[in-house]
Amino acid sequence: MEHRNFLLLLLFSLALSACAPVNPLKDESLRIKLTLPPKTGEVTIEFLGNSTLLITDGKTGLLIDGFITRPGRRETLLGHISPNTRLLRDYFGPSSGRKVDAIFIGHNHADHSLDAPLLSGMFHRRIPIYANSEYGKIHRAFGQPKSSHVAVKAAGLKKEIGRFTVRMVKSAHIHPRFRFQHAANEENDEQLTLPLSFNDFKDGDTFAIHISHGGKALAVTTSAAAIPGQWQGLKADVVFAGIGLLGPEPEETKKAYFEHGLLALKPKLIVPIHWDDFTKPLSKPLRPAPLPLLDRPMRTINLLRYGNVPVRVMDRFDKLSLTRRHLVK
Ligand SMILES: [Zn+2]
Repeated sequence: MEHRNFLLLLLFSLALSACAPVNPLKDESLRIKLTLPPKTGEVTIEFLGNSTLLITDGKTGLLIDGFITRPGRRETLLGHISPNTRLLRDYFGPSSGRKVDAIFIGHNHADHSLDAPLLSGMFHRRIPIYANSEYGKIHRAFGQPKSSHVAVKAAGLKKEIGRFTVRMVKSAHIHPRFRFQHAANEENDEQLTLPLSFNDFKDGDTFAIHISHGGKALAVTTSAAAIPGQWQGLKADVVFAGIGLLGPEPEETKKAYFEHGLLALKPKLIVPIHWDDFTKPLSKPLRPAPLPLLDRPMRTINLLRYGNVPVRVMDRFDKLSLTRRHLVK
């Protein structure tokens, strides 16, 4: 009997691995050249999985999302999720070498905002969070004061921090495909109390983020959708393009997003993000979600890469120089 169970498990595992989507990191033609260490003041962008990015010029550090905990699939789909303080300390504590002065969140789903409230309050000085008003309910549920959340309204935001200028412009969220995603797209009417589940993190307004520094600029989309004209004539050297759940969408949907969300910025490089399975820990190699989620990020990447703009993928902890558009050590 035990023997039969083992055989069934083996067959099931083989079936699952047979339908594992192609990992973009395995495609050498999508990797970025590695060059010398960054020069003083050079802007680098570190990829920390999903759409978490740390942008720094050596003095000022700006964090997109800061989603590091990455709870497992079971908790994400069925249970309660909560930030892992030990991990947050490891990644952003004083000995991590990563300095964060402000956090920007494109929309309020848990795979973006789960860790921001604790990150805001856990170190010696409070880190301000720039996020939509829906995020405020999460911030307060984790006991953080209103004063450390800057609620970004539909008109957007322009903020100077150190030598950076950050803009948040009203954008759009890809439409939900699964029931659990629909539940996270309604609104919370009441104040939230812990513990929270994935569905308690309602998305609220979605913002695309543009960051400029000394004549160079980058942009980030945390969801694979856009509003025509959203960038209002802004340009960016590098676009970090959220592609989560875009794979199964029709080509017209993909192309509309490419045009209005990415190509409108006249980028010199596009880096797809939000393609990895965010229910797997960051300590493990990044890989796409298995096929039951039907995303297949390479479908999106392949369509993008045959355009006129170079497309490259970053591995976790890779650091890209904004000026040279190469990886730095
Ligand atoms: Zn989302």
